[in-house]
Amino acid sequence: MSLPSQSSLSALSLEAIVSECHDAIITKSLDGKVTSWNAGAEKLFGYSSEERLGQTMAVLFPSLGLQEEEQILATIGNGQLVEPFRTTRIHKSGRPIVVSVSVSPIRNTVGDVCGVLMVERDVSSFLRQEHCSNHYEAIVNSADDAIISKSLDGTIETWNSAAEKMFGYKANEAIGQNIKLIFPKERYAEEEKLISSVLGEKPIRHFRTTRLHKDGRKIFASVSISPIFDAYGRVTGFSKIARDITKEIEHEKQFSRQINYDGLTGILNREGILNCVEELIQLSQVRGKKFALLSLNLDNFRAINERYGKAFGDRVLARVARELQCHIRGADEVGRLGGDEFLICLFGFSDLEGVKKAAQKVVQAVSDIQDVKGVNIRPTASVGISIFPEDGKSRTVLLNRANNALAQVKHANKNSYLLYSGVIGSELKQDNLLVQELKLALNNEELFLVFQPICHATDQRVDKVEVLVRWNHPELGFVPPDVFIPLAEKYGLISQIDEFVVRQALKHLSRWTGLFGMDFQVSINASPFSFFADEDSVNRIRDQLHEFGLKGENVVLEITEHSFLEDTAQTQKLLDAYHELGVKIAIDDFGTGYSSLTYLRKYPIDYLKIDKVFVSAIESNQMDYNLCQCVIELAKKVGIKVVTEGIETSTQKETLQSLESDYLQGYLFSKPLSEKALLEYMKRIH
Ligand code: C2E
Ligand code: CA
Ligand code: CA
Repeated sequence: MSLPSQSSLSALSLEAIVSECHDAIITKSLDGKVTSWNAGAEKLFGYSSEERLGQTMAVLFPSLGLQEEEQILATIGNGQLVEPFRTTRIHKSGRPIVVSVSVSPIRNTVGDVCGVLMVERDVSSFLRQEHCSNHYEAIVNSADDAIISKSLDGTIETWNSAAEKMFGYKANEAIGQNIKLIFPKERYAEEEKLISSVLGEKPIRHFRTTRLHKDGRKIFASVSISPIFDAYGRVTGFSKIARDITKEIEHEKQFSRQINYDGLTGILNREGILNCVEELIQLSQVRGKKFALLSLNLDNFRAINERYGKAFGDRVLARVARELQCHIRGADEVGRLGGDEFLICLFGFSDLEGVKKAAQKVVQAVSDIQDVKGVNIRPTASVGISIFPEDGKSRTVLLNRANNALAQVKHANKNSYLLYSGVIGSELKQDNLLVQELKLALNNEELFLVFQPICHATDQRVDKVEVLVRWNHPELGFVPPDVFIPLAEKYGLISQIDEFVVRQALKHLSRWTGLFGMDFQVSINASPFSFFADEDSVNRIRDQLHEFGLKGENVVLEITEHSFLEDTAQTQKLLDAYHELGVKIAIDDFGTGYSSLTYLRKYPIDYLKIDKVFVSAIESNQMDYNLCQCVIELAKKVGIKVVTEGIETSTQKETLQSLESDYLQGYLFSKPLSEKALLEYMKRIH
């Protein structure tokens, strides 16, 4: 419906306005008889105008109301004003209605009062609301909990008396301010998370947090938050109920202190600190944060204890605990696991440098102790560190790894610290990575062989080559055998490698015998873990020799001295079996291990390979020269041929020729070669 314009408004008759009005508009004569009764009055009181015209309003009044009516009529009749008032009327149905009443005199043309105009409005529902809100206000203000509401932009809108008490701000100081007024800085972000959780229909009930009192002190609070909706279901703000639980928390702390704290040192006991680690794991997981576990041990506690007695030892521990506590940040935790073992949890660091600095500070703090109770002692401590989540996601693994690092640092250099990831971790990870890759390499044909000629010392003829394995990883590139062979030995992959090498070597050799002669030899490096681990290895080689049409004499097994350390009946038996097959045995790297001349007598040895370490300095080091001389002479006496490895210069070659080494091997003659290059090499020298 459109609003009437100004001109049409004035054209409307007063009568029409009165009849349309929702309020009851009633006129009476001075003796109280109704002279007009509009539609609003009909609706409000239930009587039609016919029923009321010419009648008094007595039926509408409760018994006391009659007196009130008389007074009003008298006052108006005397030309006096009547202030608007509230009163009760009785509806036709008998139901009481509360109305607000304004009364005006009606004057005749000469200005005398001749009647009364009453405008009455139903205020029952308004009163009910008012009553309710008074009621609520009374409840809210008598509550022990702070009840606060805030708008969407965080402006405080209501603030009850408990809020005044809890936070120290009066309602007029708080209302209109941002809710951050009562937040410690570190909690700003938390509020947003809580609100978005509430909006996501996850109610927040009794959430434990901290708030700020007007005087700056922190209060522990338990908070519940609910959204406030408008009539259309839109969120217009939030109400919060907060309870001060500072005392409760203090009680809890006191209680946990009794069961979680170490009587001797006053810091957390084993139970306490381990619980703390568990909690930190959960918290860090949720927040996506790291923390560090420092396992600390005194280096010389036992000596102190033995020298000064247990009671004094206890004092040292208490002192160390105090120092540790002084040198970590307030939020970090320190506890004693037992004896002189301490555990520290550090968090809130930005990078590993921060952890290292903290560890250094702790180590320093202990070594700075000069004396305890006047006794001059100098304790020192070692620290092993693991980091969540890199080094482990469970308490056991983290603790284990921190202790692992601790053991390392104690072994290497006490009075210091070590990160598990820094040393052991990276080595282990690298090892694991390589082992995985090596397994794939065996299947993916990333391994291949090269051959290094072994020359006769006198005329440099070549009738044998050493077989060396190579690994070309598609991403890591060339991985040296010195790196992956020991790993393969350690992780049980060596027999697979050795089998591959033997098979490939025999396959190559079978192609060469026509070119190089039937007596040509491949010298294969034999890992003790595969060649001397079971009798099957002999059978396998026998079968393969047969398969490729070769004889035992075509193969030399190079065995390092270390393999002989297992000087057992089994070693003897296998060596004898190879010997019977015609396979030759060479002792590799002779002189670097635990050389025992008894081996030369006991086992069927055909060659000795003098290690390159003795060759490299043979011109300048008399000792090396003498050693080579002795070995060669000795070998000759027992009928063993000598191969000298690592010849790089002509002088080395001449020296060893003069010492009458039977064979020479080294870069001077040739580096290890591919099959193709070997064929060219052989063509060139013969
Ligand atoms: P090794 O048995 O002592 O092999 C000789 C090493 O000396 C080879 O290194 C060879 O390339 C190197 N070399 C040869 N001449 C010279 C020289 O004049 N100067 C210098 N500086 N070095 C020279 P490579 O190939 O890196 O092999 C290292 C070690 O890896 C070998 O030492 C051997 O113990 C092991 N290995 C290599 N291939 C195999 C294999 O197929 N199976 C097993 N089980 N071990 C292998
Ligand atoms: Ca070798
Ligand atoms: Ca060697």
